[in-house]
Amino acid sequence: MKIHFLGTAAAEGFPNPFCRCEACRKARSLGEKNIRTRSSILIDDVIKVDYSADSHMQALRDRIDLGAVEHLLFTHTHYDHFQPSDLYNRIEGFAHGIDHPLHIYGNDAAICQSGMALGQVAGSNRFAFHLLRPFETISLGNTKITPLLANHDQLETCLLFYIEKGGKTLFYGNDTGWLHDDTWAWLKGKVIDMAILDCTHSFTNNVRNPNHMGIETVLEVQRIWKEEGILDGNGLIYVTHFTHNSGFLHDDFESAFRPFGIQVAYDGLIVDL
Ligand SMILES: [Zn+2]
Ligand SMILES: [Zn+2]
Ligand SMILES: [Zn+2]
Repeated sequence: MKIHFLGTAAAEGFPNPFCRCEACRKARSLGEKNIRTRSSILIDDVIKVDYSADSHMQALRDRIDLGAVEHLLFTHTHYDHFQPSDLYNRIEGFAHGIDHPLHIYGNDAAICQSGMALGQVAGSNRFAFHLLRPFETISLGNTKITPLLANHDQLETCLLFYIEKGGKTLFYGNDTGWLHDDTWAWLKGKVIDMAILDCTHSFTNNVRNPNHMGIETVLEVQRIWKEEGILDGNGLIYVTHFTHNSGFLHDDFESAFRPFGIQVAYDGLIVDL
């Protein structure tokens, strides 16, 4: 599996273009891995997770052909993950040489709002919609996807994904705080080769932080996964979805996680799993 990190920031981006805090000022002046757009990944060039307003520029930045993407999975409808009106660029007359629909998957809020955002063209052969239910596995060709429950917005069925392809497994774990009980139960006996975990915060003084994780919560998840054999000696963890409000720049997160063998994702990073 090729995992391409398109964006690694929380909702406001890092730096937030409107913000004049110390972390944003430093990120602007240092540039490079400190410039983060809103969180999304691309798997094997054909499966994309989430579509924020930054997806357009991420595609231009990394020279990605979004016309080749076959499947778009939405975790939830917070604005940093969900900008379906931008998919209008894929309609007939705007996008040429398209030979397949973009299959869009999500909870009922994501599917309903995508349909409304696209209006009449939602029913064209450029789009197809599929409702996801937690813990019901779907097959996309040779890839199996199981939506898991996040511990995030309590008024929405926010999803995480367990993705199986070519004998490897990827856990897509943002946005979420300390994992939902039903997700812990489902993961028992499973193996994770690579996990992408929410690390919105830096230190929170809470090892089981709800809504979003911070450094302590990520380390606690790693500890239990290792104890339960879900993550073996070769299992990888990459952290993502960082906020400037943490005050931590890329190097600060690397220093915090290096002793634990956890990698800090950055925009444009490609991992071959
Ligand atoms: Zn988010
Ligand atoms: Zn800031
Ligand atoms: Zn969110």
